[in-house]
Amino acid sequence: MDPKIYLSSPHMGGTEEGYVSDAFKTNWVAPLGPNIDSFEEALERYLQEGSCVVALSSGTAALHLALIILGVEHGDEVLCQSMTFSASANPIAYQGAIPVFVDSEAETWNMCPHHLEEAIKDRISKGKKPKAIIAVHIYGMPFRIDEIVSISKKYQIPLIEDSAESLGSSYKNKKCGTFGDISILSFNGNKIITTSGGGALVSKDKNVKEKAIFLATQARDKAPHYQHSQIGYNYRLSNICAGIGLGQMEVLDDHVVLRREMNQFYRDIFQDVEGVSVFTEPSGVYYSNHWLSCITVDEKKSGFTSSAILSALKKENIEARPLWKPMHLQPVFKDAPYYGGNIAETLFKNGLCLPSGSNLTKSEKQRIKEVLGQFV
Ligand SMILES: *Cc1c(COP(=O)(O)O)cnc(C)c1O
Repeated sequence: MDPKIYLSSPHMGGTEEGYVSDAFKTNWVAPLGPNIDSFEEALERYLQEGSCVVALSSGTAALHLALIILGVEHGDEVLCQSMTFSASANPIAYQGAIPVFVDSEAETWNMCPHHLEEAIKDRISKGKKPKAIIAVHIYGMPFRIDEIVSISKKYQIPLIEDSAESLGSSYKNKKCGTFGDISILSFNGNKIITTSGGGALVSKDKNVKEKAIFLATQARDKAPHYQHSQIGYNYRLSNICAGIGLGQMEVLDDHVVLRREMNQFYRDIFQDVEGVSVFTEPSGVYYSNHWLSCITVDEKKSGFTSSAILSALKKENIEARPLWKPMHLQPVFKDAPYYGGNIAETLFKNGLCLPSGSNLTKSEKQRIKEVLGQFV
């Protein structure tokens, strides 16, 4: 059988090992050191807009700290996009808080502003004002930023921007990762750049950065001995991993171009196929990194299902996956309130993520094209 083609695999640029080797040579084999400082600076330069970045052990850790910094406590409610990976919602549960899920709208597949506002009004009328909003740029596609930000401001509920999948995306020429009161990034192995595992918290407030570092390093008070007035965490990124990140920052823009080429590759394949749509930007103000290229299949028009494509690819050792199963349909969140209709649910039923790596070779693309050709 031909070697496996992955959905999204790590893609090294070439200079990563040099930075890792520097860490060894200088003995900065620790969760602090010069690679971490330089990686944070590189991200701050990339994101612009006065961003302050804290490198952490994962995107999940960054979300957890964001909730703590915004004062989310036991019994509080947090609004969260339903159409996402579970890591967006799990940290709400870490805090003993209650997720309130919101449906997507059909154009960006992200949080629907209408249902968000409906949820806020209803929760307030039931006696509890939600403490935060977690909105996600799913698969790299920016959410409806102007509308979501203005609802967040109108009701004075802080916005956490889950930009784990969207480093390199932008909206009206500003980078995703700069729109939240607090934003988060992920550098997991399958993301557009990776540190093997890692994440970051982004804010425009230096005090938030300081607070995040304090909490991520066990919340030590300023004292000569070990003194703690608050519960701390061990969430800092390793200086070794930050070295990988430094190398990856040099190729981030190339990765965006290559991932966008994959999206075009699928648009070309499916351009004349009735009932199959490739997920692309609704208008010119959106710029997606197309972290994953996705399609939706309308069986009535196409005569085949997305699972038929999934099986055909699997037979040829090519990985594809259904879209994220919405959080309000997950057994673990079955008791959580939900606002919306069936947009996310329908996407889940009809959608498929296709191989989208920036490192796919010509012959791998040919293999994919041959399988998809059966459906054209
Ligand atoms: C990957 C991901 C995360 C979590 O990031 P980790 O670094 O894997 O902890 C959070 N949200 C979304 C939408 C993700 O895709």
